[in-house]
Amino acid sequence: MQSLWNEREAAEHKGDLAQRVYTSRLLGRDPSLVLHGGGNTSVKIHERNLVGDGEEILYVKGSGWDLECIEEAGFSPVRMSHLLRLARLTTLTDPQMVNELVTHLTRAAAPAPSVETILHALLPHKYVDHTHSDAVLAVTNTAGGEKRIAEIYGDKVVIIPYTMPGFDLARLCAELFPRQAGKNTIGMVLLKHGIFSFGATAQESYERMIQLVDLAELYLARHNAWHLERAAHASGKSAQRAEIAALRQQVSRAAGNPMVMATHQDARIPSFVRRADLATVSQQGPATPDHAIRTKRVPLLGRDVDAYAQTYRAYFAQHAPQAKDAKTMLDPAPRVVLDASLGMCAIGRSARDAGIVADLYRHTMDVIERATLLGGYQALPARDIFEVEYWDLEQAKLRKAGTPPLFAGEIALVTGAASGIGKACVDALLARGAAVVGLDIDKRIETLHQRQDFLGIRCDVTAHAEVIAALEAAARGYGGLDILILNAGIFPGGTAIAALASEAWRKAMSVNLDANLLLLRECHPLLKLAPRGGRVAVIGSKNVPAPGPGAAAYSASKAALTQLARVAALEWGADNIRINTLHPHAVFDTGIWSDEVLAARAAHYGLTVDQYKKNNVLKIAVTSRDVAELAAEMCGPLFAKTTGAQVPVDGGNERVI
Ligand code: ZN
Repeated sequence: MQSLWNEREAAEHKGDLAQRVYTSRLLGRDPSLVLHGGGNTSVKIHERNLVGDGEEILYVKGSGWDLECIEEAGFSPVRMSHLLRLARLTTLTDPQMVNELVTHLTRAAAPAPSVETILHALLPHKYVDHTHSDAVLAVTNTAGGEKRIAEIYGDKVVIIPYTMPGFDLARLCAELFPRQAGKNTIGMVLLKHGIFSFGATAQESYERMIQLVDLAELYLARHNAWHLERAAHASGKSAQRAEIAALRQQVSRAAGNPMVMATHQDARIPSFVRRADLATVSQQGPATPDHAIRTKRVPLLGRDVDAYAQTYRAYFAQHAPQAKDAKTMLDPAPRVVLDASLGMCAIGRSARDAGIVADLYRHTMDVIERATLLGGYQALPARDIFEVEYWDLEQAKLRKAGTPPLFAGEIALVTGAASGIGKACVDALLARGAAVVGLDIDKRIETLHQRQDFLGIRCDVTAHAEVIAALEAAARGYGGLDILILNAGIFPGGTAIAALASEAWRKAMSVNLDANLLLLRECHPLLKLAPRGGRVAVIGSKNVPAPGPGAAAYSASKAALTQLARVAALEWGADNIRINTLHPHAVFDTGIWSDEVLAARAAHYGLTVDQYKKNNVLKIAVTSRDVAELAAEMCGPLFAKTTGAQVPVDGGNERVI
């Protein structure tokens, strides 16, 4: 383990708190130390308040901040004198502790201080660093872990037996630390939880963390438990989209909400999921209780979601008999699935959550494999893991999680998504919480958004193999398909029938009609498995009810598409799939309206371009965003009882009305 301390960078961080920010970020850069909000750091600073009194303030990491990108505002300033008095109490309930921490801040807008705040206050050092280091956990989560830690560190660390994080842990450390600490003590190991280091400067505390973790890594290496064998190949088979979507449907049913499920099949996965002892090593519990909140205690092996849910309910009933109804119980759906053929499926309420679960479980796999090589992985008893899971549920109630977004946990696919109405649909769906797969023949789709809930795929929707590959990627990325927006289309320009080439006619039919048959047919098995029922929005055209001269190929292809959608509505109602069509008109911020086409159409009607743009009953311009917002809403609960409908979005057209 290498120190990332850099004198030049460090010198740019002036002052005690800035130094705290700098080394916290150094810790945050290494995912084998801290991951997704795990770990915490603090610094004690003497300050003078507004009325001139000097006081000692503990700046401790606030909840909701990751060490990797923490700023000064991410540290919560709590009055030390009060924290030290709290530490002398014999009991303090969690809600009381949370209340005391928040009411003794010196900045009203600060984030809630970490639950390990009192512990930080107790340690008699200016800087304190805490991580859930993989290497340290691999040693502590082994038979004889405590002995091994003593052997590695001698009198360098104080060893604390496992206790639930919070006030009880702080109390225990208050009792054990002064008894065990000596002049060589530079850290503290919490068995089956993590490690602390401390020092007089940010650099000293950080370098000690690196030194202590390095000793654990060297110990693992000496015992042939550091290097992990990896399979040479990824595990994936070619066509798994229907299997994946079926599994996601089961998981979503158990969770009571649609869930995103990301399937991972890179080379790291098969060496773990195909272990002969998988059923033993994977079913003991997470490496540190902190992970249990996201990953649940154990993964599901195979695909029997119902059996997993039943076991989970029994586990809950055993440990919290008072919590029987749905409101006081966690959902019993797995968050990690290990399957010999699918690999690792990571599950969350959003693509971001599923990403966090995957990262945490990758580190769990490392810890389990190294601990197994060292002599046998041993997690905490279920009872201790449960306390943390249940505690988080209580905290969630205190935080009063707001209403989830409309399409939370759902997956949408949009064609022609790189520009115009399609791009606006992507934005409308992302804004409503869906994970979105955007297809476009334009390569720019691949870089349209850099975010975990968007996957841009270059795809010619008229090419069968490309559409299939895109659906496979969508299923692996997010777990299936709930919403389909058929938007890709071409407008070949004004040509009278007398001059219309067969080639131009066939091209319009191929993109505007044939490609959509292919998409509907191939998406149907996935839409059928959507937890809340599948929804399709088809972007038609005003030209369907009111065609114009010179647009024969376009009008005919869109009319046939509308008819196709109506038949689909009839056929798919029994599968709980709704399909509705929008007829936009005069939307000029789209890819098909070049300035030339626009000028030609305006001239055709004897209008200026501006008159032509607002040439409707309401005299208003219709934008891509207007169409996209309506398309998104038509996939939501407002249109839950509507299928096979055609809705104009055209500012009012006399020929349509
Ligand atoms: Zn911790």
